[in-house]
Amino acid sequence: MLKATILTIFPEIFPGFLGVSLTGKALKDGLWQLETVNIRDYAFDKHGSVDDTPCGGGAGMIMRPDVLGNAIEHHHKGGKIIYMSPKGRPLTQKMVHQLSKEDHLTIICGRFEGVDERVIEEYGIEEISIGDYILTGGEQAAMIMLDAVVRLLPGVLGNAASTENESFEQNLLEYPQYTRPIEWKGRKVPEILLSGHHENVAKWQHQQSLQITKERRPDLLEKTLDSK
Ligand code: SAH
Repeated sequence: MLKATILTIFPEIFPGFLGVSLTGKALKDGLWQLETVNIRDYAFDKHGSVDDTPCGGGAGMIMRPDVLGNAIEHHHKGGKIIYMSPKGRPLTQKMVHQLSKEDHLTIICGRFEGVDERVIEEYGIEEISIGDYILTGGEQAAMIMLDAVVRLLPGVLGNAASTENESFEQNLLEYPQYTRPIEWKGRKVPEILLSGHHENVAKWQHQQSLQITKERRPDLLEKTLDSK
């Protein structure tokens, strides 16, 4: 079972949206566990200082290695330590699958201008980014990563097969989906989907996936060729 330990200065953000819907039910049902640790509790002064000015000058504040290290050493009980960071490896569905097989993830949420580089070196921390943009804190990024990971845990989605054809699973985007009514505002559901011919439906869906991926994300198709 996955246990996620979150190191943050804003524990009140959690579980946030992870507490509702599929991830929330899974949390209540004990399919995964969430522990939040307030980094300020590991500060060395009575004000709970966790940050200081950058060496060499520049704007903003940096999270101190001694305080963060103290929190890590009290709570890391084995497994990967991840720092959510725009400088990290961009998160992919493949990485999400790998993370869903871990028993324990310790996740550090940065604030201010980030953390002292020595912490990353000292604990062999893996840096993961959720995209090429800057957030105010790692909490939002950690929640998005965990949302993606938890939905792949056994028993979380009702129908395990429902993840197989999803976007990114075969380096393809998903084909377009339809439901009732069959006609809406003069627009009809593609005839083939009403034919009941499973093989032709599957073929059509695959073609649509290929075409949409070619138009919108040719980089994904290149990845498929690279991995062959
Ligand atoms: N000065 C840093 C950005 C700091 S943003 C830089 O230029 O790289 C503050 C915190 O938000 C970071 O420490 C990190 O934990 C989190 N964060 C911001 N953007 C993120 C992203 N795209 N992915 C993951 N975490 C991010």
